[in-house]
Amino acid sequence: MRIRVLGAAAGGGFPQWNCGCPNCRGVRAGLVMATPRTQESVAVSADGECWFLLNASPEIRHQIESFPGLHPREPRHSPIDAIVLTNGDLDHTLGLLSLRETHPLVVYATDRVHRGFTEGNVLYRTLERFREQVTWRSLEPGRETPLAGVNGRESGLFIEAVAVPGKLPIHLEQMGAGDPEDNVGLRIREASTGRRLAYFPAAGGLTPNVRKALDGADCVFFDGTFWSSDELPALGLGTKRAEDMAHLPVGGETGSLAALRDLSAPRRIYIHINNTNPMLRDDSKERAAAKAAGWEIAADGMEVTL
Ligand SMILES: [Zn+2]
Repeated sequence: MRIRVLGAAAGGGFPQWNCGCPNCRGVRAGLVMATPRTQESVAVSADGECWFLLNASPEIRHQIESFPGLHPREPRHSPIDAIVLTNGDLDHTLGLLSLRETHPLVVYATDRVHRGFTEGNVLYRTLERFREQVTWRSLEPGRETPLAGVNGRESGLFIEAVAVPGKLPIHLEQMGAGDPEDNVGLRIREASTGRRLAYFPAAGGLTPNVRKALDGADCVFFDGTFWSSDELPALGLGTKRAEDMAHLPVGGETGSLAALRDLSAPRRIYIHINNTNPMLRDDSKERAAAKAAGWEIAADGMEVTL
């Protein structure tokens, strides 16, 4: 299984257009040791020919162009067989609207995420230009299903969604109570090798099911949004704590670094990293702490082969 990180940053990217935090200012001015990152998305393939995108970021056009594996090989063609959504956040879904140029798409999502994106969304009509422009396939947490492309073309990969503590996207918060299907992680299994990827870019906490999915994986991508609970308030960037935004922080006594210290996966990688996270700086003590615990920090262009 080949895994290519197209974008490693949380919503807003790094730097973020309206952010003057020390990281964003520093990276613009070349004054900190850090690399800009686009918003989170990963491409996965069993054969290196057909690819599945995990999430569709607002920067999808640039991300496709940045990776020759995703370039067309015929006058009208795309090696992207399907797109899988882990939640309905705009940094995970807006890219779908950018794929409107009359091309059949397959999208895997829970019914909640599917409805949250399509209902009442007039812009979605741009993906209804012809019959079956988008084929939605339902992800039911706990049920493994083949990952297949347009016309059901098999990929050799199987996928299972795992419900993860999360929350509704900000623009859907008025819909009321949340649901376990609002936010999922993914287990992707390659049939020929038995290798497993666990992809959990947004996790408000660890449940026994999440833990089980992480434990059996050869490679784990996990929520690296915030280093600390009070990261935004401490920088004067609002009042929300990491937990208010359904993100388990990386650092601290109850953070993911401590909670996942006995994880057995040979590759453990933080992704969906907010631009305020000190771990983004190559020479920070937070980066050193993550590295010492065996964790890597995802960057655009990173590749993992399982
Ligand atoms: Zn910033």
